Amino acid sequence: MEVGGIQALRRWSAEQSGRIGLVPTMGALHSGHQALMTRARAEADLVVTSIFVNPLQFGRDEDFVQYPRPIEEDLKKCEEAGVDFVFAPALGEMYPSAPEVRVVAGRMGAVFEGEARPGHFDGVLTVVAKLFTLIAPDVTVFGLKDIQQFCLVRRMIADLNFDIELIGLPVVRDADGLAMSSRNSYLAPADRARALAIPRALDAAAEVALESGAGGNLPGAVEDAARSVIDDAVERGELELIYLSLVDEATLQPCSPDFRGSALLLVSATVGGTHLIDNLPLEF
Ligand code: AMP
Repeated sequence: MEVGGIQALRRWSAEQSGRIGLVPTMGALHSGHQALMTRARAEADLVVTSIFVNPLQFGRDEDFVQYPRPIEEDLKKCEEAGVDFVFAPALGEMYPSAPEVRVVAGRMGAVFEGEARPGHFDGVLTVVAKLFTLIAPDVTVFGLKDIQQFCLVRRMIADLNFDIELIGLPVVRDADGLAMSSRNSYLAPADRARALAIPRALDAAAEVALESGAGGNLPGAVEDAARSVIDDAVERGELELIYLSLVDEATLQPCSPDFRGSALLLVSATVGGTHLIDNLPLEF
């Protein structure tokens, strides 16, 4: 496995032939990231993982400085997962100066996470576009945990004509049900227990979706089931809800009562100041 920045990547790429699979990450790797790498390994001859904490996608008051950067452990995990090249550029290499020209995420980037974190998705798409240009992958694997990000990357690939296959993998969870996230390391043990209201809410929604007798407004009943679990946790002061919404997977617009098709139940909350997101895919 090789590790390096832009020059090393260019040298390495020039010597390779075969299908390249890219897994973009910000490091602090966990089993969720490793699942993406394993899938890329199965899809491509060569696997590149990028590790880059992208300042463009952090707001002024967010955790860019604090974000964990355990590079040695990350490299071990990449090696275990069979990665060929770890692209870990320095900040000044990716952004010699603040970029004037950026990708704009549009309407789908202005809602939910985009509303809570203005400019976040412009920053994400800009760095992903740079990674696509630098690495020129044939296939890229993203996690569906960051579902809005996934939808926007899919849209960017279509709108900007990137010739790249996009694969999304389901949320990988810890044994207690919490979606794995690099930010879970910020959670004190008591906060971690409080955060479990999020997967509990998704479970409650999944149960209602399975029941046939929920009546005419099944989307409404599903959303209500999740909301009641979250509302209880909010009342107990355990978390602060940012949004909870059942949306059409294609547009991220709220589902109407008679909605039929693929939907997503989106949840975002802060627990002890830590921003967490999760979601559940549903078919109506
Ligand atoms: P990050 O390093 O958090 O920016 O995430 C890098 C990639 O890993 C993104 O495609 C994420 O969606 C994905 N990812 C992060 N956490 C998980 C998880 N628990 N399950 C599946 N994919 C994940």
